[in-house]
Amino acid sequence: MICIPVTERTQCAALRSAAAAAQAADAVELRMDIIEDGDLPRLIDAARRAAPRVRIVVTCRRKDERAVPDGVQPSREMTKKAKMALLEQAIALEADFVDIELAEGVRAIGRLQSLIRRRQGKTQVIVSWHDTAKTPSLAKLREIFAACVRTGADVVKIVPTARRADDNLKVLALIRHARWRGVRIIAMCMGEAGQQSRVLAPLRGSFLAFAVLPSGRKSAPGQLSVSTMRGLERLLQDGLSGIRPRFSPGGPAFVLLGNPVAHSLSPLMHNEALAAMGIDGHYSAFCVTDPAAAVAGIRGLNIRGASVTLPFKTAVAGCLDGLSADAAALGAVNTIVNERGRLIGHNTDWVGLLQALREGTDIAGQTFVILGAGGTARAAVYGIKKEGGRPVIVNRTPEKGRLLAAAFDCPCYPPEALGKIRARALINTTPVGMTPRIHESPVPAKTLAHFPVVMDVIYNPLATRLLKDAKAQGCRIVSGLEMFVRQGAAQLKLWTGREAPLALMRAVVRERLETLDNG
Ligand code: NAP
Repeated sequence: MICIPVTERTQCAALRSAAAAAQAADAVELRMDIIEDGDLPRLIDAARRAAPRVRIVVTCRRKDERAVPDGVQPSREMTKKAKMALLEQAIALEADFVDIELAEGVRAIGRLQSLIRRRQGKTQVIVSWHDTAKTPSLAKLREIFAACVRTGADVVKIVPTARRADDNLKVLALIRHARWRGVRIIAMCMGEAGQQSRVLAPLRGSFLAFAVLPSGRKSAPGQLSVSTMRGLERLLQDGLSGIRPRFSPGGPAFVLLGNPVAHSLSPLMHNEALAAMGIDGHYSAFCVTDPAAAVAGIRGLNIRGASVTLPFKTAVAGCLDGLSADAAALGAVNTIVNERGRLIGHNTDWVGLLQALREGTDIAGQTFVILGAGGTARAAVYGIKKEGGRPVIVNRTPEKGRLLAAAFDCPCYPPEALGKIRARALINTTPVGMTPRIHESPVPAKTLAHFPVVMDVIYNPLATRLLKDAKAQGCRIVSGLEMFVRQGAAQLKLWTGREAPLALMRAVVRERLETLDNG
């Protein structure tokens, strides 16, 4: 989201500026420390009349944290009492955000938070910290970030001043640190040397980017005009992933339903992707016990989309208003899309599996051995048949294997027959070899030599024993990571209608898995 600060001195000029800013940006920051005798209700009204969906941020910056751009004289300091009264008025007027510095203390911050709770208000609290002279070390910035988080901030804002170009890297690293912890952050560097961070921070997931109107006054040195910001964002975003950002002030929300979900990498992957796509919405995991109640929650809260994982992929289908043809054929749902209140179930597991498999081999006319007969095996059989391939099922429990084979009219063999089957690829859909039992493999190493391509749907660990053995036997390998990111990208496409940043998603999940692999 792009935010334009209103920094005019007089109420009259500020009213004009608030209206113009509301039309040009996603949010308007009313700098009540600069607008002398600013009439907050009229200013908010002017902005909302100009653009009803614009977000309003109300700020009374402390003098010691206030940057003084060229040509702007320092303004007066409000007493703390007057400042608190003004922020409380902003809450009463249902401003979207109030900004209060960490330096004002936890009591002052807590007072605003309890007022919002009492009023059941929608205002969110930005807890901010600025250094108008320098950028401290990343370690120090992390300490400041942690102190802001401890206050219960809805959004943390950290803005030091860049003296050198590499100061920008510290705030970009801080944004990553915050996003890994699921905390919304606004971070950038002030100063001419900080302009790189003003452009790159929103692309890395900073919640707000500050810009000025073409004729407007800067509230901090280094700010770019709103048209320059928009142009640079489009250019960079096109160059990075071929997609154009669209900032949506409403902000959808997405959830994961499953049990357990604590170790899921979906929140990390989806939140990185949503930020890179410029979509103002968070993805959160919920460990649920009752899928029907969870679906009712999605309806009640008007959640825009959900992922569904074990053990609810089948149970959830019956609680929805409709199923896609693929989800109905599979009898399993891993994605819910909220279409104007109607919850529709989809399945992207088979899409992800097929797209990953295509990285290793053609599918039409080829034979594929599928190890296992559970939900993922079903997705594999379905997708391979749909694309003109021939699936062959191999499962340890013969009845379950036969049932799946009968449903899709394909052959089924016991595991002992594996060495005699000639096929283009073997796909493991059993959990054998998954963390923590990483030394196990569902297939003896020598048997793998029969298969030019071996795919494992397991992605934790990244390199399973099966894939290591297959590589050693000279097979081409396809990892479960590829399936995971592609099924996630297909979910994002369903929820947003836009292509997801696949390379970014792959990189963040790979990085996290490598960290886990290294202990
Ligand atoms: P599922 O429905 O429980 O099916 C598991 C299958 O594996 C069953 O057919 C079972 O055989 C077989 N199996 C289990 N333990 C076995 C063992 N020790 N030896 C031989 N066969 C065994 O599970 P699922 O939902 O299909 O998930 C399977 C795996 O896929 C999980 O590891 C999951 O994490 C992974 N997965 C990955 C992705 C991705 O995006 N990469 C997506 C979905 C799932 P029986 O029929 O004999 O019980």
